Amino acid sequence: MRYVQTVRGTIAPEEMGFTLHHEHIFWDLDIYLPKDLDIHDETDPRNDDISLENLSQVRSRFQQYPKNVIQTDIGIAEKELLWFKEAGGRTICDCTVRGIGPRPQLLKEVSMRTGMNILAGTGYYCYSAVTEEENELDRYEKAEHMLRDLRLGFDGTDVKAGFIKVGVQDVHAREDRESLAAAAIAQKETGAPILIHQPGLEHQSQEIFDVLTANGGALDRVVMCHCDPLLPDLDYIDAIAKAGAYISFDFFGLDGVLGKTLFLPTDKDRIFSILELIDRGDIEKLVISHDTVYKTMLRQFGGYGYAHIQKDVWPLMLANGYTQDILDQISIKNPKEIFSLEA
Ligand SMILES: [Zn+2]
Repeated sequence: MRYVQTVRGTIAPEEMGFTLHHEHIFWDLDIYLPKDLDIHDETDPRNDDISLENLSQVRSRFQQYPKNVIQTDIGIAEKELLWFKEAGGRTICDCTVRGIGPRPQLLKEVSMRTGMNILAGTGYYCYSAVTEEENELDRYEKAEHMLRDLRLGFDGTDVKAGFIKVGVQDVHAREDRESLAAAAIAQKETGAPILIHQPGLEHQSQEIFDVLTANGGALDRVVMCHCDPLLPDLDYIDAIAKAGAYISFDFFGLDGVLGKTLFLPTDKDRIFSILELIDRGDIEKLVISHDTVYKTMLRQFGGYGYAHIQKDVWPLMLANGYTQDILDQISIKNPKEIFSLEA
């Protein structure tokens, strides 16, 4: 019997429906705030609330505003999720793991309020985001934490994780390698899928795969997230899929610049690149999402919200060579395969 583990218990895989596999409902990225910022200094405009007047400023300097990098308000989340539901969304995966403020109990609460299926991830974000103590743990200790979240529930709650998520900023860093190895160990015991945050521009998929397989991981249960910045290198992305892993374009709606060098593609680039990958035979390995993780990506703060793919991207895809079957495969069938567990 196959099942999917949500924050409110198990469901049948068929109940997943339209799924966003890589989002954040609650998050805290204060680690990325500028070091010179005093969050109590009311005269510093970076501490202002987000408004129409500063929206363009916040969008282009998205990591400098505390009000943008932290979202822990259940009322805000509830409203956004109901818009997603109204557009036909059924399931959403929260990729907020250790290092960026996971809130499993709040996820359960907002899932009850909205009726949405929510899956929570367990794991460790990139080494620069987690605590020193966590960075000192070895693969077996990290795997133990993941297994506890998957089997018993997150610390002091009955909310279980439904998948594993690991952040890799540099596969050569010991801490990130230990997290990857831990994920593979936990996967071997549970069959849980592993979502991987790949480093922005570096081509490290082969080294990542090596660590996973050396520790018992299965590449066909791995999702390589953030393929967007790797465009237009389709050969490289195609090779990830041919190695057996899922390829994830999860920045739909986001076309800014990360840091000073990482220019994200536009939705147009994504739409035509995915079509080419389908021509290369990768349709069963493709998944798409928005990676909502800044307030300005939410509708209440001038963004597209969680329904952007259904409301804006799907019509563009259908007008440019996609069929409804293709869309269903990418947004319903593939996520269902990824998140289904064997009892
Ligand atoms: Zn993310």
